[in-house]
Amino acid sequence: MVQEIRNFINNEYVDGVSTFDDINPVDGSLIGNVHTADAAVVDKAVKAARTALEGPWGRMSTPERVNLLRKIADRIDERFEDLLQAEIADTGKPEGLARAVDVARASANFRSFADTVASAGLDSYLTEPANGDNALMYAVRKPLGVVGVIVPWNLPLLLLTWKVAPALATGNTVVVKPSEETPASATLLGEIMAEAGLPEGVYNVVHGYGDTGAHITSHPDVDGITFTGESKTGSIIMKTVSDRVLPVSFELGGKNAALVFDDCNVEEAVAGLTRSLYTNSGQVCMCTERVYIQRGIFDEVVDGLIESAKKLKLGAPFAEGTDFGPLISAKHREKVQSFCDLAEKNGAETLLGGGVPDMGAELNGGSWFEPTLWKGLAHEDEVMRKEVFGPVAGLIPFDTEEEAIHLANDTEYGLCASIWTQNLERAHRVAPKMNVGLSWVNTWYLRDLRAPFGGSGLSGIGREGGQHSFDFYTEPVNVAIKLG
Ligand code: NAD
Repeated sequence: MVQEIRNFINNEYVDGVSTFDDINPVDGSLIGNVHTADAAVVDKAVKAARTALEGPWGRMSTPERVNLLRKIADRIDERFEDLLQAEIADTGKPEGLARAVDVARASANFRSFADTVASAGLDSYLTEPANGDNALMYAVRKPLGVVGVIVPWNLPLLLLTWKVAPALATGNTVVVKPSEETPASATLLGEIMAEAGLPEGVYNVVHGYGDTGAHITSHPDVDGITFTGESKTGSIIMKTVSDRVLPVSFELGGKNAALVFDDCNVEEAVAGLTRSLYTNSGQVCMCTERVYIQRGIFDEVVDGLIESAKKLKLGAPFAEGTDFGPLISAKHREKVQSFCDLAEKNGAETLLGGGVPDMGAELNGGSWFEPTLWKGLAHEDEVMRKEVFGPVAGLIPFDTEEEAIHLANDTEYGLCASIWTQNLERAHRVAPKMNVGLSWVNTWYLRDLRAPFGGSGLSGIGREGGQHSFDFYTEPVNVAIKLG
């Protein structure tokens, strides 16, 4: 059945000015008509968000807000299956992944940020200058106001709630734009939050392509932007908000490296690397696309990766044993294919994949792509320097620890790295030397929602998570009281 996916403003569905197609990447079928928000619809959403700040939401105490966030988390859990269906229809990802990661993290995000805010204290200082003008300083945290939340398609609900939960926990209101590829779960979340008792105007969703996002970032009454997506979009947004000097939090692309030392546990490294290369068909910002392997174990690791990748089961999301889904769209598949063609042109040996698999008549209309491995590329090649955001990786040998560190850090990006070694000293020596926001040792994508998350360089600005989110979504007002 083809659904109507409308904008959500003031806890009500709002028609757009036109519609565009929501396509299921599993088989290319039409699943929804999405209502595009033009400048006027975005303005309505921003006005609703502004008005809500003046209403019951703005007057709510922190404990009341924390309670409401916990109710939202409970309601998400109650409607888990609906969110799961929405997320899978839009993304085509395997049921097991969507269940364990995407939807599970939505309620976890609300609970975690409710805890952060519930236990937050105030910065305070007793100031005792030489002249005896003693004073008490304390910094009260105020919400930024109306926050524009713009998110991508790869982990739609997870990334959305990662931003919406702390924004609401700290008393802001939001205007959200999900990706044009994955509009459903953000819309359903609106309904769920209204059911949990969120006042009108606090959470608003507008749909559309980049233009709709630009209507948010250029709106004069938006107080801050939190964005996850491509580095080049981040750069455009930064220019747009620069005149108003708006606070921004950017979680952008990556070209993440893995360093595999000859003192690693090869079996565990291969298993971990397989996850880091192919989870969500390589469409996680933290996925590894550059694997540097110490020369003595190069062939062993390469053979292990080929064997392990061959075992991945491509299939429809609910089919038994599926652990690898399609890419998000035909357009994205063209991009991934173009990098594969370029790799071969640059002299790569394609060890596995590199093209479109035959999925049978029912699924061939989807945007499937094979798990891919290359060797023979040079570190300088474009394919090893630009983010592909697909199930591909280049395998390159190295000789020394210094060389490995240099190779990993020789990139414009700085999101994450993983280091595979059984040598404790090396682990502690190398991990902090990575120019990234997240440096893993013998693991990948191991997260704590209180820990800082984000990247440097082209991978972003700022950190979110726990106290870091609290800092971004609030503005401190330092009060100084003279004590005499
Ligand atoms: P994208 O930048 O194309 O789109 C992201 C969002 O921005 C979408 O909602 C899109 O409609 C909107 N947008 C596009 N142009 C805009 C503009 N001019 N103004 C305002 N909004 C605009 O990214 P994508 O293809 O959806 O997502 C994939 C990218 O996201 C990859 O680069 C990936 O690495 C990155 N990502 C990063 C993280 C992280 O935490 N660092 C997490 C997930 C994804």
